[in-house]
Amino acid sequence: MTKALPILHTIHQGGSEWGLSRYSRWVGGCNRKARLDEEAQQNEPPKQMTWSGAAVGTAGHLLMEHHFKGAAICRDAGLVRAAIELDKDVVLQHTDMFEERVWNEALRLFYAFSQSFPNRDHFGTPIGVEVALDSREAQDIARAVGIDPYTLRLDLVTEMGERQLDRFTSAHPLDGALEILKPGFWIVDHKFYARHNMYSMEQSLWSSQFTAYQLAWNAAHPDKPVNGVIQNTIHKLKTPAFKATIIPPPSKADKARLKNLFTIAVDEMTNRPDRAVPSINNCFPFGGICRWLKEGVCDGA
Ligand code: SF4
Repeated sequence: MTKALPILHTIHQGGSEWGLSRYSRWVGGCNRKARLDEEAQQNEPPKQMTWSGAAVGTAGHLLMEHHFKGAAICRDAGLVRAAIELDKDVVLQHTDMFEERVWNEALRLFYAFSQSFPNRDHFGTPIGVEVALDSREAQDIARAVGIDPYTLRLDLVTEMGERQLDRFTSAHPLDGALEILKPGFWIVDHKFYARHNMYSMEQSLWSSQFTAYQLAWNAAHPDKPVNGVIQNTIHKLKTPAFKATIIPPPSKADKARLKNLFTIAVDEMTNRPDRAVPSINNCFPFGGICRWLKEGVCDGA
């Protein structure tokens, strides 16, 4: 494997500082776990990402970022060389950040994706990659989304023309709100899922994440309102499979659900920050055990 270079490129490990995931952890889970997780995130230095679905997703997002910025990534060269070709000042320490098999799996998936959809403008012409909305537009975003602070980082924003749309719709397996597909601006969000889920389309269509994304982007860029979100799903199968789900603009019900989520989250984090909610699901999440139980910080009561 290529050795890491002594330069730094920030790795986004899922979400921005005050994004939806930060608020969501206070809704329907264990408050004590939410508080301990937040403290650990702030105080602990980043660790090497060992084998997990989240680690593969983070490495996969990194490859997508460089791909849509214009780097040529091939399976053997990997990301380090590709990024240097793209920008000689780019600094990378990725190979140290991931366990080798995480990196290899992400490259396998990315290679399959880029073989199937080789055009850099597959989702339209990129107008922003890893777009952070968190400072200049902060007030507009907070007003539109309904919570302050609110920050977000979009994987990709594109402008899709007629011909690009024709190519995209004929090449990519699609579901969701196909009737809203038209040229214009789109938010693209990459997802790496382990398997097909019979409810995945409904979950995406009702996703508060995508409601917040659209409200925030449109508030920050009123001259470039998006038609919707394209969820670019990569299924991590032996033969990787692809699906693009089309998410329409938020309805009144979507906005109400988002507002409700923020109201509950703020109430819980302000008034009951240490309320333990022990349960089979919280203390023993699927396939694991709560870190704080394992480390003896909480006795699960
Ligand atoms: S062990 Fe259970 S009660 Fe304790 S922090 Fe974890 S989820 Fe909450």
